[in-house]
Amino acid sequence: MSQIWKKCSSCKKDILTGEIYYECSISTCRAAVTNYAFCSIACWDAHVPVERHRPDNAGAIEKRAPQAAAAGGPSGQRRIVPASPEKPSADDEVLVVISKVRKYIHDRSGMNTSAGAYEVLTDRVKNLCDMAIETARSQGRKTVMDRDIP
Ligand SMILES: [Zn+2]
Ligand SMILES: [Zn+2]
Repeated sequence: MSQIWKKCSSCKKDILTGEIYYECSISTCRAAVTNYAFCSIACWDAHVPVERHRPDNAGAIEKRAPQAAAAGGPSGQRRIVPASPEKPSADDEVLVVISKVRKYIHDRSGMNTSAGAYEVLTDRVKNLCDMAIETARSQGRKTVMDRDIP
């Protein structure tokens, strides 16, 4: 039993709970005040010129609307839902502080950072952590130390 979760920010079609929708990778479109959600890539595409995004740094992020049963709060409220075991998507598990990485890159270069970059950075961080864990474990330690990080 699906309920209306949100309306598409472009065509106003209903996005039902549990359905796939798309978010814009540009931070201003994901801010609480705008909080855009799109029913399809086409609808996301349609807002790119409207918002004057540069096509090379804007991206659509596929998301799934929360299930009706799981959505405790008022509809449209952002909740952090722990990843369920059968769906170990790394979606909401970005390990880097997005605002700080974005600021660092922007301060150094004036460049923007795409959403995908945080995912890759997260993968790298996880990799480094995994390697450090292995080293610490092989030395019989229960603490990962600076020297374990390759
Ligand atoms: Zn739409
Ligand atoms: Zn946007």
